[in-house]
Amino acid sequence: MPQKLESGFGSLAAELDDDGLPPIGHVDHDRIARAVREILLAVGEDPDREGLLETPARVARMYAELFSGLHEDPRQHLRKFFTEKYDEVVLVRDISFNSMCEHHLLPFMGTAHIGYLPNGRVIGLSKLARVIEVVSKRPQVQERMTETIADLLVSELEAKGVAVVIEAAHSCMTIRGVRKPGSICVTSAMRGIFRSNLSSRSEIMTLIYGDRR
Ligand SMILES: [Zn+2]
Repeated sequence: MPQKLESGFGSLAAELDDDGLPPIGHVDHDRIARAVREILLAVGEDPDREGLLETPARVARMYAELFSGLHEDPRQHLRKFFTEKYDEVVLVRDISFNSMCEHHLLPFMGTAHIGYLPNGRVIGLSKLARVIEVVSKRPQVQERMTETIADLLVSELEAKGVAVVIEAAHSCMTIRGVRKPGSICVTSAMRGIFRSNLSSRSEIMTLIYGDRR
């Protein structure tokens, strides 16, 4: 199986996926597999030993999945808003996600909290989770991810205020480098009233953190 990797084997490899995952479009599986084989050689491994034979193709399928958000527009999930005269805060807390740090291609994972003050446009709660799915399935830095989500809500929902807080553990900090397991990186992006009005901001932060602080 893996010896066919060199010759346009990508789509067939995807069909034979032992994880049962379908092939995901727009990703050059063969190219990833060749690169992974190179990495294995470069670190002094034997990519032809039994345990590694299928690894390049498997990693290719994994990257196609982990970076699937590159081929999706998160705005599609925010365009199915409904009009509602609700002018109180909407908050979805503890939306779990995992993403890939673009500096090391190592995962970081955690939870996102999204709050907004609608301006006539209200979105289904699951759509907020969908937006996080798309944005997190890209090579990322947590700071940009936080701001991207906030800006998407501002532009698509024209919300009066948006607050996004993300808490995540970065494996590039826990398993390598400074090796600080347990450390959590917290980022926040405030827009509109949550940025300009101190009492609105503290209200949303109290909603997000509740009795945790
Ligand atoms: Zn990193």
